[in-house]
Amino acid sequence: MTQANTPARGAVRRVGILGGTFDPVHIGHLRSALEVAEFMALDELRLLPNARPPHRDTPQVAAQDRLAMVECAVEEVSRLSVDARELARDKPSYTIDTLESIRAELGPDDQLFLVLGWDAFCGLPGWHRWEELLQHCHILVLQRPDADVEPPDALRNLLAARSESDPTTLPGPAGHISFVWQTPLAVSATQIRQLLASGKSVRFLVPDAVLAYIDAHALYRAPN
Ligand code: ATP
Repeated sequence: MTQANTPARGAVRRVGILGGTFDPVHIGHLRSALEVAEFMALDELRLLPNARPPHRDTPQVAAQDRLAMVECAVEEVSRLSVDARELARDKPSYTIDTLESIRAELGPDDQLFLVLGWDAFCGLPGWHRWEELLQHCHILVLQRPDADVEPPDALRNLLAARSESDPTTLPGPAGHISFVWQTPLAVSATQIRQLLASGKSVRFLVPDAVLAYIDAHALYRAPN
């Protein structure tokens, strides 16, 4: 008998990954992630905190705190989870390496979706081994309904060859690009850090559990 949460033998899993610094994670990330997970009928959308060079971490906010906040945020949220593999290394990972590592843990038919904002997608040609990304995953580009979608020249051919209009029916484990249209909430981690540094509340901008963690560890506050 198949246990709950264990896919039946042969069932194709649909796994998404959303990378970010999550410094801290906020309702913009979480609503967006949940909407993508539900719209795409994903089994799991993993929030994947990126490592940063140590000197670029805000002094009091260690990578482990960013990770702990994401873990608090998704606890008991079905479909959302955390993937800490990039923080287990001592330097930033290339996305291609992360995808290879995740892909090695999935079945050959399982579908892997890399979720990227339009800006990140436009920067793809600068990524290490970017032309191999689609061997391991599909790419879902998050775009605002009112946005202008003129891609850079380097991506025109790729889009012509690989894009599909319906993201929910992409065939196979990897290889296609599609767009998911959604209106992001007007929240950023920068705004949250600024509010905290100036002694203001970030209540309702982050989940209560994240707020409790920030308060308990006195994160992002200006030094006295
Ligand atoms: P910062 O203000 O520090 O630059 P951020 O709030 O943009 O941070 P990131 O951790 O850099 O957060 O973002 C991770 C991912 O979440 C990126 O793909 C980014 O485009 C997306 N994202 C950020 N803010 C929002 C939002 N309000 N709604 C939807 N997606 C968002």
